[in-house]
Amino acid sequence: MSVNDDWRRRSLAAVWHPCTQMKLHEPQGAALPLIPVARAEGVWLHDHEGNRYLDAISSWWVNLFGHNHPAIRAALIDQLHTLDHVMLAGFTHAPVVELSERLGALTGLGHAFYGSDGASATEIALKMSAHHWRNAGRGGKNRFVGVAGGYHGETVGALAVTDIPLFREAYAPLLRLAATVPSPDARQAAPGETPAGVAERAATALGDWLAEHAHETAAVIIEPLIQCAAGMAMHDPLYLRRARELCDRHQVHLVLDEIAVGFGRTGTLFAHQQAGIRPDFLCLSKGLTGGTLPLSVVLSTDAVFAAFYDDAVARGFLHSHSYTGNPLACRAALATLDLFEQTDALRQNAASSARLAAQFAPLSAHPRVRHARQCGMVFAWDVASSLPDFARRCARHALAQGLLLRPIGHTLYAMPPYVIDEAEGELLARGALAALQATLDEEVAAGAGREPTHQGVMDAV
Ligand SMILES: *Cc1c(COP(=O)(O)O)cnc(C)c1O
Repeated sequence: MSVNDDWRRRSLAAVWHPCTQMKLHEPQGAALPLIPVARAEGVWLHDHEGNRYLDAISSWWVNLFGHNHPAIRAALIDQLHTLDHVMLAGFTHAPVVELSERLGALTGLGHAFYGSDGASATEIALKMSAHHWRNAGRGGKNRFVGVAGGYHGETVGALAVTDIPLFREAYAPLLRLAATVPSPDARQAAPGETPAGVAERAATALGDWLAEHAHETAAVIIEPLIQCAAGMAMHDPLYLRRARELCDRHQVHLVLDEIAVGFGRTGTLFAHQQAGIRPDFLCLSKGLTGGTLPLSVVLSTDAVFAAFYDDAVARGFLHSHSYTGNPLACRAALATLDLFEQTDALRQNAASSARLAAQFAPLSAHPRVRHARQCGMVFAWDVASSLPDFARRCARHALAQGLLLRPIGHTLYAMPPYVIDEAEGELLARGALAALQATLDEEVAAGAGREPTHQGVMDAV
């Protein structure tokens, strides 16, 4: 048995992999092969047998400056020599203070409250918003509204504001479901309608909903500019400006979930900056540590914080996670922020983004591609295909091309680490096109002519 096969076998016996029907990994003719990774560097993941895969989705959108970055590694090693971890209740330390100060300066929001994963940031923001209203004597404002196709994590509270049926269905009886308003997804434009027009239309729907329900609503939660899990649905920043106005008018919090789009992914350090607004709560995770360690944070306004500041313990925000503000994770985040400054990353990204767009031109022009779109370092293409398992097949063909790509439903996308160079971009663009073509060739073999179907997110696995 090869080294790869041995790890594969042991993993399938001992590890329950996330977001996966384990049976699809069955070794005999696996519909979806499990890839053992021995090491990673830059944009590359290496297995045990000399194969490598270009990580074109930044390992589920977390990696920014490439794997095993020497500066982040050095910061972590340095931190390990002094303080591994200490509880944050009643204690503090330099990494958490410095990180909170810097995030505050970058966003104009302070009072950094830490969790470990994106979903825990969502939980924190929701609880904080509802508790804020309770402390303000308006305890009836405890419901939430999200955007169609929204994704905010999969714990029970976060799942209640996540509108992805496949993820939610089995657990629906456990949830206190949030309301859903139409998405500003620019693909929904009527003939002649602009993305701003769609945004305006969706904002009107949000306004109508709030006019009726604001009295019982704590917050609106939105993924600004790109609804990633919905299949890289992009919208005009106008939607965020309108949402801000509506939240102010109706006295409802605006929670922005930048867990996926924060830290430069959309071209600006934070996506909401393109709308010139500020949320009441900002949720960050994924890229926060450059893709090295789990850490999430919720930043909020002084007004929110003030509603908790009191002599009564019960009016404080009583929420905690054991590893809150872990010094190692905070040091990785500080090193990541340093890299933004030292490498002029946003300007580099603008150049990389334009170069990649040119490299992807043949893919964007493919006759079966619809809605080729881009926002910063996120690129997406909807594929007209009748294959119900398009995503899985395409991912398999991508692996054969040495690429980690993981389409969502019928949407192929790339979200590579920012350090991808010109030659790697060329490999990515050619490989993605080849994988797409190979998948469509299979469709012909499987019997063409059926109407293209549109699958849910399960095909993301
Ligand atoms: C990934 C993601 C989350 C959840 O983060 P986890 O770390 O996976 O719990 C929440 N919101 C958005 C927009 C995400 O992309």
